[in-house]
Formats: sequence, structure tokens, C-alpha cells
Amino acid sequence: MMAQRAASSIGISGEILDLLVIGGGINGVGIARDAAGRGLSVALCEKGDLAQGTSSRSSRLIHGGLRYLEYGEFRLVQEALREREILLRAAPHLVRPIKFVLPHVSGMRPAWMLRTGLFLYDHLARRRRLAASTAIALDNTPEGQAVRPELTRAFTYADCRTDDARLVVHNAMAAHERGAQVLTYTEFVQAQPQKDLWLVQLRDARAGAARSLRVRALVNAAGPWVEGVAPRIAGLRRTHHARLVKGSHVVVVKFWRGDHGYLLQNVDRRAIFVTPYEEDLALLGTTDLAFSESPDAVAISSEEVRYLCDAANRQLRCALGPADIVHSFSGVRCLVDDDNVDPSAVTRDYHIDATSSAQHPPVLTVLGGKLTTYRRLAEHALELLKPHFAKLGPAWTAQSSLPGGDFPQGDFERAQQRFVQDAAFLPAAHARGLLARHGTAAYRLLAGIGRLDAMGQHFGAGLYECELHHLVRHEWARTAEDVLWRRTKFGLRLSAKQTRQLTQWIDGSSV
Ligand SMILES: Cc1cc2nc3c(=O)[nH]c(=O)nc-3n(C[C@H](O)[C@H](O)[C@H](O)COP(=O)(O)OP(=O)(O)OC[C@H]3O[C@@H](n4cnc5c(N)ncnc54)[C@H](O)[C@@H]3O)c2cc1C
Repeated sequence: MMAQRAASSIGISGEILDLLVIGGGINGVGIARDAAGRGLSVALCEKGDLAQGTSSRSSRLIHGGLRYLEYGEFRLVQEALREREILLRAAPHLVRPIKFVLPHVSGMRPAWMLRTGLFLYDHLARRRRLAASTAIALDNTPEGQAVRPELTRAFTYADCRTDDARLVVHNAMAAHERGAQVLTYTEFVQAQPQKDLWLVQLRDARAGAARSLRVRALVNAAGPWVEGVAPRIAGLRRTHHARLVKGSHVVVVKFWRGDHGYLLQNVDRRAIFVTPYEEDLALLGTTDLAFSESPDAVAISSEEVRYLCDAANRQLRCALGPADIVHSFSGVRCLVDDDNVDPSAVTRDYHIDATSSAQHPPVLTVLGGKLTTYRRLAEHALELLKPHFAKLGPAWTAQSSLPGGDFPQGDFERAQQRFVQDAAFLPAAHARGLLARHGTAAYRLLAGIGRLDAMGQHFGAGLYECELHHLVRHEWARTAEDVLWRRTKFGLRLSAKQTRQLTQWIDGSSV
């Protein structure tokens, strides 16, 4: 069956746009959304799929970053903790509370140090929905069931987890709703100044066709590709540069009951997160390794697999090894180079280089940042653009829901129970998955459908044609991989044959 694709063509016949954002990761879509909502005409180009870069390869936490307190990053932690509250409100289906258990291990950080860090974490920003940290005994508790018996004490604290790639897509949808053009599989090739405009060349990354447009300002939000994109902007001089650090994760079968996760201190003083992943699996990460190759070719090494398994095996009741790995992925952090020798100690704060001169119109270059702080980073970017756009509206995103996030009283749990009842023809786990992926838009997706056999072709594991239509029409899914690894994680469930059927369907859905 044919599906109408999400719009991805740009009007270039003499049209001048205010802003071109290069890069469809969290920072690019966040800036595009904010700018479009403030009245700018915006296009965003992404050389691959949305979130194809670092923004689908994170630990999926919306968090203050407890560990950064040790490096004195109080500004960053406070801003991130504030953002955690804002994002919990904006997208309750995508940003959900999680309780972390942090075992106390003798010979590692003393209990007073952990308690002080958690006290700061509790109080650096106002908490409305998340619980305060506590000290607990581990014997005979749900939190202790997965912890080795010799570890008897722990702290618990609250943070949030998300689906990183879907957070990106929801921001792209929000930008699009406010008029931004979202051009996926469209590579930024170069920009030349032409009086007070940039003459930009783009290339359709699949068909190869070139196109050009004129814009008043550029934002380079190409993440770990930022240094490759910068020289393609003629005449650009910058003060700060990027430092690349690789981080990898492994996915294993979940080996404890409950929704909580673990934060484990490692022997090298780093910390490893062990979190629930896609219902029945667990995510272990991350590593931190200096990286100097192409971010297009990043992959986990056998040493990283061993490092992550060993870190879990030391404190948890598991004996993980390479044979237990269900899936793995690696990403590249683009950090602001602060000359720190240790990759783990390089600042996680962000910097935006703003340049404009008699020789060229404005350009912003985004360095660093976290998934958690993207909304605030976007506000900073818009503040830097303000002198160039008299018509720019005020900041607005702190009070606005993301698409599908408009739940009554922001109560996702109650909405989920209701949706399971309303869509009683679906298995409960399937209904829960749909609501978590799409929020209130799940009702639109099922409009007019009251029976399982009216959902269209079933590709396996609960992926039906009606959801695929939605992903293609409204979420810019263009390939099977976009669907299987970024819009959803059905890639973990579908067989090779089912994947081929999906590929055939999606290839046949072009208009
Ligand atoms: C291992 C790891 C774990 C992490 N965990 C967390 C976490 O738990 N919580 C948290 O808050 N943060 C976390 N982060 C940080 C977070 O993931 C990143 O800060 C964030 O995703 C960066 O987003 P970005 O938009 O800057 O870059 P990206 O997501 O990499 O986006 C840049 C985009 O630009 C595109 N692009 C490149 N060149 C061009 C071109 N010429 N034309 C068009 N497009 C182009 C790329 O294809 C890419 O999609 C983690 C990072 C890593 C690596």
C-alpha cells in the first residue's frame, strides 16, 4: 500500500529563508523548533536520517549528571536538572522518571562523599515530581536483588530516561508544525557569502541532485562532524574547537525485576549506568575513549565489551560476557576542547561560537552539549541571533508540550491505563508501546481502527502497517533502518525475512 511521505522539498525559486540549520540531531532540531516558533522562516538539512548521529547512540538519560559535580560543573548540572523538570512536563510519554540504585563499595568513594553529592543533586534545582535521594540497606529489597551479597548499603536517587531518537523526531515534528522545512537525506555542501545573504548548496544524499537556496543566517549543528562542515562555510573564523570522544553501549537480557536502574562506580573512578531497555532488555554504558577517526565509522571494540561486562559483573549478580550481548552501539561525543588529557574529564558543557563580519552574514557553530540541555542550548542560540532579526519573538519552548505530550495533568501513567482500555483489541504491551512512542497521537494513529485485523499488514513483533504509515507520513521515515533503529527499536525483534518484507513495503511507498 502506498504511503504519502512527510514533506521534504524546499522552495528555492527566489525564496530567501531566515535560517538554515545544518544537522538533524537533538541540537539542530531544537534550534529549528525554537526559531520557527519565534517567527523565523527555517529549513533544516540532515545528511542522513534524523538522529542518525550521536543523538540515537546515547545512554538515553535526561539527567543532571551526578558525576559532573566531581568536576565542579555546577552550572551545567543545575541547568540540566532544571531542564529535566521542563522535559518531564513537555513530553511525559518520552521522558519518564527512573530510580537509580548506587551501591556503596568500600575502598571506593566514601559514603559521606556520595551523600554530599546527592544532597547537592537534590537541591541544585527545584524538583516537583521526582523523589529525593535516600540511603537504603540492600538485603531482601527489590533494589538489592541484583546486587552482589557483599554489598549491603546503597543510595537511591531519581533521574529520567528517554528515547533519544524519538525525542529528536518529536522536536522535528514541532518545528515542522510551526512552518520549518525538514530536509532529511540532504547534505549541506557549502555556503558562500553574497552581500548580506548566504548562497547555500545542498545535495540530495540519495538521488545526488544539487539544489541551492539563499539564507540570512546559518547554524552549524553537525555534532561530531562540526569540524568537517566548518571549512565549507567560506571565510568562517572560530575561537573554539571540537574534541571527539567515543562512547559505547551493550544491550543484554534484563537480569533483575523492577523499573529501577543501577549506577555503578568503576575501578577507574568512572561510572557505568545499567538501565532497563525496551521492556525486557538492559543497557550498559558507557565507555569514554579519545577518537580521531570519521564519526561515520564508529564501532564498539572487544575491549569495550569486556570493560562494560566486567564493570557490571563486579557489583551485580551476573556473569556477562561477549556471548550475552544482544546488541551494541557506539557514538561520538562532540565536546568543547578544553585541553584536558583525560577524555572523561573534558567538560560536558556547551559553547556556541557566533560570528558575523563585514565579510559574511551570521553563523553559529554549536560545540558540546547534552541531550538533556538541548532546549536551553537552543534558547542561547536564538539569543545570539537576536541582533540580526528584529522580528524575533520571545522565548516560548519552556511552556510548550512536544507533539503527543499534551496529557491531562501530565499524568502519563493514568493515560496509559486509559489507552490500554480504549484500545482493548490490542495486546496490553502493544498498546503501552504505541502510547510511549506517539503520546496522544496514538489515538490519531488508530482512528477508525477497532480490530487487530484492521491494522494492515503485520511485519512482526507488533509492528503494523498503520503505524508505518504514520512514521512515513509524519516522521520522515524513508528506509527500513530509519523505522527499525530510530523511530522504533523493532530492529531488536524482527527476523531477517520480516526485515526484507518491511524493506519491500517501504521502498514501494515512495510517491
Ligand atoms: C555514548 C554517549 C552517551 C551519551 N549519553 C547521554 C545521556 O544519557 N544524556 C544526555 O543528556 N546526553 C548524552 N550524550 C550526549 C548527547 O547524546 C549528545 O550531546 C547529543 O546527542 C549531540 O547532539 P547533536 O545534535 O549536537 O549531534 P548529532 O546527534 O550527532 O547530530 C549532528 C547531525 O549532523 C548531521 N550532519 C553532519 N554533517 C552534515 C552535513 N554536511 N549536512 C547535513 N547534516 C550533517 C549528522 O548526520 C548528524 O545527524 C551521550 C553521548 C554519547 C556519545
